[in-house]
Amino acid sequence: MFNNLSDKLDKALHLLKGHGKITEVNVAETLKEVRRALLDADVNFKIAKEFTVRVKEKAIGQDVLTTLNPGQLMVKLVKDELTDLMGGETAGVNLTGNPTVILMAGLQGSGKTTFSGKLANFLKTKKAKQVLLVGADVYRPAAINQLQVVGEQIGVEVYAELENKNPVEIAKNAIAHAKANGKNTVIIDTAGRLAIDEALMTEISNIHKAVNPQETLFVVDSMTGQDAVNTAKAFNDLLNFDGVVLTKLDGDTRGGAALTIKSVVNKPIKFIGTGEKMEAIDVFYPDRMADRILG
Ligand code: GDP
Repeated sequence: MFNNLSDKLDKALHLLKGHGKITEVNVAETLKEVRRALLDADVNFKIAKEFTVRVKEKAIGQDVLTTLNPGQLMVKLVKDELTDLMGGETAGVNLTGNPTVILMAGLQGSGKTTFSGKLANFLKTKKAKQVLLVGADVYRPAAINQLQVVGEQIGVEVYAELENKNPVEIAKNAIAHAKANGKNTVIIDTAGRLAIDEALMTEISNIHKAVNPQETLFVVDSMTGQDAVNTAKAFNDLLNFDGVVLTKLDGDTRGGAALTIKSVVNKPIKFIGTGEKMEAIDVFYPDRMADRILG
């Protein structure tokens, strides 16, 4: 995960390691390399610049030039800043509804259906929830099929109405079905398009208004870099979602989406997807991710 970024940051910070005493020029050179590493990871220019400015201010505030081990201090400052950039604290999911309704939004191919299954499995096994999965993609029967396969695999009921072309109705009926059948958690998988279009946005917005979910999660493919960030912005403007799910972090994604989504939409990354299997789901911890990036 983020191997290239890790290597580059390691090299940048290495410039200070072993120095008992450093100069302002050493710090400036290091930060220039840190900025370059962030840009290479597809972090946008403004965020990368602000990042290094903040690290520099902290370095000055903590007298990095006279400290005993400036290399170590700079690693810590960069790590803290990476943690902040990715959201600081871990954000949980709100499971207080009766039933709790979780709405999935995102583009087609982002991994929504797969993640709906993973989350259902996670909530069932880790939180002892009675989960109902809902297929609300009325355009692609294959999507409902896929959800049914997933449901069977993890032993979770899937609600679908193959003849009904109204996703708002399906979502409402599903919630009624959950109440009548002792399910306390409803995960609604919605349709996605290959790109943002008005019809998709109107539809997801209508579902959102009708079911008033406790959690709206925006699912995005981390491999799409800055596009992921732009899509997140469009969905957040419309839905004011509660959190982000970053999928496909097992691929060789450069890291830009993970590093910048939080500061662009001001919503936490709550989960990550790290593979196609149902178990490949992790709660996102910004500090652990920062540790991982800095090795
Ligand atoms: P949807 O159209 O948004 O519902 O996306 P899908 O759930 O159908 O996922 C699209 C493709 O991405 C499928 O082939 C999934 O197996 C794959 N996929 C989903 N999540 C992950 C992940 O975290 N890692 C990897 N490697 N593949 C994933």
